[in-house]
Parts: sequence; structure tokens; C-alpha cells
Amino acid sequence: MDCIFCEIAQKKSPAEILFENEKFLAFLDINPINYGHTLVITKEHFDNFLTVPEKELSDITRLTQYLAGAVKRSLKADGFNIISNNGASAGQTVYHFHYHIIPRFENDFLMKPRTKEYDDNEIRNFAEQIKSFISKYEGLING
Ligand SMILES: [Zn+2]
Repeated sequence: MDCIFCEIAQKKSPAEILFENEKFLAFLDINPINYGHTLVITKEHFDNFLTVPEKELSDITRLTQYLAGAVKRSLKADGFNIISNNGASAGQTVYHFHYHIIPRFENDFLMKPRTKEYDDNEIRNFAEQIKSFISKYEGLING
């Protein structure tokens, strides 16, 4: 086996576990961006955000919401980031779907992304390009 999160889920590798039930596990990231940086995983292996089945995604998102509240209150954080990195270009290093809960504090100077600017027609072109792939979803939600 070469998936570290599967190993953690199966208790073959150690982790500082915060929460566990039949389907999900939450534990501390060993390389935290801030102390208390938490990872929430499905015990079953899914490669990334796009491949998690609807029910599991819904349930892990709700669980992450609950755990984020606990992390924030327990650490007296001012806020938090919920992040899912997908693909190497996005910083994904473990190819087993997980949410990051990163507690944030005033002036911690982390993750202030630089923004780009659109030219006049550029924003419309990007919108059209993305929307041409979204239109197919209507059939999904309507029936
Ligand atoms: Zn895995």
C-alpha cells in the first residue's frame, strides 16, 4: 500500500486523531501551516474532490463544518480556511481526498493571494468558456 491516508485510516500509520466514525477521520497535519491545522478524510480512498461520490462529499463537508467550529473555538482563532488542493499544480501532495481546516489569526501573514486583473472582454470570455461546461448540469438537478 502506498497511500499514507489509507494507512492512517486503517491504523497502520500513526496520527494525532481528533475525530473518528465509521466513514471519516480527522487528524492533525504533521506539517501545519498554523498549529491546529486539521485534515478531514474519507476512510475510503478517493483520489480527489471530483471523484468523491455525492453522499460522501455531502457528509464530509458537513463534518468539516462541524469540526471547523470546534477548531476555531478551542484555539480561539479569529477565522479559518477550508481548502481542498486538487492536482500537483494546486499543491496536492497526498492523492486521497481531504479537506484542510487551517485556523487563522489576525496578522498571521499567511496566504494572502495576489490577484490578477481582467482586460475588458477577457472576463466575459472566461465566463463563456466555463459556462459552456456548466450548462450540462441543468439536466442533473432537474431530473
Ligand atoms: Zn488512500
